[in-house]
Amino acid sequence: MSAVAKFSLMTLPYEANELEPYISAETINYHHGKHLAGYVAKTNSLIDGTPYANMTLEEIILKAEGALFNNAAQVWNHEFYFSELAPANKCQHQPKGLLLKAIEEQFGSVEKLKEKLTEASISLFGSGWVWLVSDDKYNLQIITTPNAENPLTKGLFPLLAIDVWEHAYYIDYRNSRADAIKAFWNVLDWRIIDKRFDAIHKSK
Ligand code: MN
Repeated sequence: MSAVAKFSLMTLPYEANELEPYISAETINYHHGKHLAGYVAKTNSLIDGTPYANMTLEEIILKAEGALFNNAAQVWNHEFYFSELAPANKCQHQPKGLLLKAIEEQFGSVEKLKEKLTEASISLFGSGWVWLVSDDKYNLQIITTPNAENPLTKGLFPLLAIDVWEHAYYIDYRNSRADAIKAFWNVLDWRIIDKRFDAIHKSK
């Protein structure tokens, strides 16, 4: 019997070439169409016929270990990452409202926060993710996670994710992760990050 695919590949909210010149269509086509699609397919095949087949992606991430955790968390992480990007001419280039206030109080300025996120991205050894997270008291924090690991398992609320796996930038920037991060800021839509921070407040 063939398995019913439970999770499907997200549709990007932009065309593959719309993040150019900062992220190429070729990178998006591989990153979304090959890497993320692979994580989705692998997750579906690992949950087929198991109790995980009835769980949400978040529930799987909180319970699973090993290959299933790795693939399911990579699906979550990439959906989160691709959703926060937008064409440069459509991005809100600065945070606003509650998030801006929290950043200014806790990091001094948006520029300081971006410097710290950039530093964390450049110094993370190997594959992983850099996150801006909040706890339930709205304290912001920068954390890095290796491989597929994810702040949800630490009870934190992710706000912003930077993918520092080489597959995220190698086509466009080769070994220069620093150039990739510099480019990333141009296509980060702070409107989405504002909404994620506001959602924590609304959920309480
Ligand atoms: Mn990736």
